[in-house]
Amino acid sequence: MNSLMALIKEIPKKMQSPIFTGEKRIAFMEKDVPVPGPGELLIRSKANALCGSEKGFYLHGSDRLTPGHEAAGIVAAAGPETIVKPGTPGVVFLMDFCGSCRSCKLGFTNQCLAKRADIGFSQDGGYGEYMVVHENIFFPIDAGLPFADATLLLDIMGTGGHAIRRAVHARQDIESVLVAGAGPIGLAILAMAKILLGREIPVFITDINPYRLELAERLGGIPIRVDQESIADRLKAGGLEAVDAALDSSGQTSARRACVDHLSKRGVLVCVGHGGEVNLEVSSDLIGPERAVLGSEYFAFHEIEANAQLLRVHREYLSQIITHRFPVERMQEASDLFFSGQCGKVVVEQ
Ligand SMILES: [Zn+2]
Ligand SMILES: [Zn+2]
Repeated sequence: MNSLMALIKEIPKKMQSPIFTGEKRIAFMEKDVPVPGPGELLIRSKANALCGSEKGFYLHGSDRLTPGHEAAGIVAAAGPETIVKPGTPGVVFLMDFCGSCRSCKLGFTNQCLAKRADIGFSQDGGYGEYMVVHENIFFPIDAGLPFADATLLLDIMGTGGHAIRRAVHARQDIESVLVAGAGPIGLAILAMAKILLGREIPVFITDINPYRLELAERLGGIPIRVDQESIADRLKAGGLEAVDAALDSSGQTSARRACVDHLSKRGVLVCVGHGGEVNLEVSSDLIGPERAVLGSEYFAFHEIEANAQLLRVHREYLSQIITHRFPVERMQEASDLFFSGQCGKVVVEQ
């Protein structure tokens, strides 16, 4: 109780939180430190990774919202009716799922039918010093795991791993993979394909950004500069005509079409990047070769458990995806670099 009281006493009443004001500008605004209600935890944010899904905020502003949905931190205070103790380190799941709807009961917490919020989108997230979240979306992590590395449990291992698990759901014998787009999610899919399917499985990955393709190569991927070389030629050089699974992180209609064009019989296309279309000839693309086309949205909360075990084994490999770290005071610089594309994952720390 004494240490708890000490911790609570240290919590300030006000904090300086970053907001996006539009036209690529970040500003800091004074906010009240929130107070956790029943079932809620107050999290002292320690690290938060930047995400491509925040581009709209970067360009057009976040109003008074402080974004950040890839947060790792420490429980600073716990509201009534909670179990997790102050001082516990952990990560925050983006979707504030209800826990009691049909989807949640079956474990499909990323498909909750009564979602209360999206952290960092509909309520303040992890770029601020403190944030309040429901206890059920807080996942405790090993003491001593660096907070920046803990953020890998979210969009990198979570979203990347879920996409691979979706592919395996439709096709168990995947022996080759094509990833469209080598941004952070494409790199995440590549890394999780290597971890979940086996390091020996060839993973081809397309982009036009040399920095990101170089990073992809360091992670064991086979880079394809799609503006300079053809996917078919690169597959052929690897002894392949087609791949068993293709995963699109680019959100581009043309990239998805290229995925379908290089899919084997029984091949599966998993769409992870939002936007655009999938154009298919039903007979020749789907029915004849019995292919599957799936969507993959974020991941289910329970997947963090298995990913946390994998992170213990593969931390050195996975942490290569984080190429830059900034103190939160340099959020402007962090954002400018991240949206320039000359980086992997960028994390702000505090
Ligand atoms: Zn994200
Ligand atoms: Zn639910």
